[in-house]
Amino acid sequence: IPPADRRWSWVEIDLNAIRHNASAVKKRLAPGTRLMAVVKADAYGHGAVQCAKTALNSGAEYLGVATVNEAIELREALINAPILILAEPPAASIPLLLGYKVMPTVYSAEFAIQYAEAADAMGLRAPFHLKVNTGMNRIGVRHDEVVPFMHQVGFHRALELVGTFTHFATADCAETLDFQIQVKRFIEAINALRGAGIDPGIVHAANSAAAIRYPDVQFDMVRLGIGLYGFHPCPETFPLIELRPAMSVKARITDARLVPMSEGVSYGLHYRSPGSMKICTLPIGYADGLRRNLSGRVEFLLGEQRVRQVGNICMDQCMFEVDMRTYGTRTRIDPQVGDEVVIVGAVGDAVVTIDEMCDLLDTIPHEVAIGFGCSRMPRIYV
Ligand code: PLP
Repeated sequence: IPPADRRWSWVEIDLNAIRHNASAVKKRLAPGTRLMAVVKADAYGHGAVQCAKTALNSGAEYLGVATVNEAIELREALINAPILILAEPPAASIPLLLGYKVMPTVYSAEFAIQYAEAADAMGLRAPFHLKVNTGMNRIGVRHDEVVPFMHQVGFHRALELVGTFTHFATADCAETLDFQIQVKRFIEAINALRGAGIDPGIVHAANSAAAIRYPDVQFDMVRLGIGLYGFHPCPETFPLIELRPAMSVKARITDARLVPMSEGVSYGLHYRSPGSMKICTLPIGYADGLRRNLSGRVEFLLGEQRVRQVGNICMDQCMFEVDMRTYGTRTRIDPQVGDEVVIVGAVGDAVVTIDEMCDLLDTIPHEVAIGFGCSRMPRIYV
């Protein structure tokens, strides 16, 4: 039975959109600048293996993940590209890093030394990227301490500094002063390494927002996450690049009924029908990424017609209304069990977007896309 016939709600991923987004960003990079596809969190809910393979065929050369398990999944799918874990993993995972040839991010001397000794004992190299904290204050060696850090760990012959990087806290913000401070500190750190005779390797800093907005901080590589999946990281990037969202979310109506005036719908019966409404049920709820605090605020597409979700979104189901006083007679929409409804995506010229949900939820597309894509809904590649 095809996945979308086991349950009438599913996520569709358009790999052509991933291809387009990777190439569109690649075209903006200076010749020789590498593209890292950030495919952590199952490629932001889009499917790590498929998206990694697609990005690697469209100009990406490096992959970024968050955890050792995410890296192993890629290696077990026979992906040979360099993989960087974007944070320092637990020391207990060092044998896996060496076995699967996955590079860790390093910022603690304890980890660096254990990693180097383990590699040495196996006759292997211990390649890593050094993380520099230039102001985000999440992880990393302080920007003015990189040289002492490297001196502290550098005597280990197995260690190999393959890259040096930082991460911006405000690349997607309208205000640019804090961003410029981070850039300045990062350049100083790189120059200090070079001044001490230490080759920083591949220098990288830019996430999607910085890669698109600031060509002069692309350095040797950019790390493309949200832009790969077709979301603009901030309003400033809209005029600069055309990105295509790869994710659609769809469901089929599982039940439908006419409800008379003042009947309630869903838990709490907070919604009350203002007249003759057809209430249709979809098998998608907050356990599938349709966040409960969108209840009564979000719209779906039935054909090209926008319809309003009503009543509290349940764990596995939600309802929407069709006003039979208007649509039923004027546009002849009379939804039936089995009809397809678009939760996120396009029908003809009509679109409903994750960005709209983000405005309602005051969040970023990363979170909403991961909510849908890492849920129990089947994922289909189109
Ligand atoms: N680099 C690092 C270290 C990250 O943590 C992330 C994502 O959070 C990215 C790059 C990609 O960022 P974005 O999705 O904004 O492109």
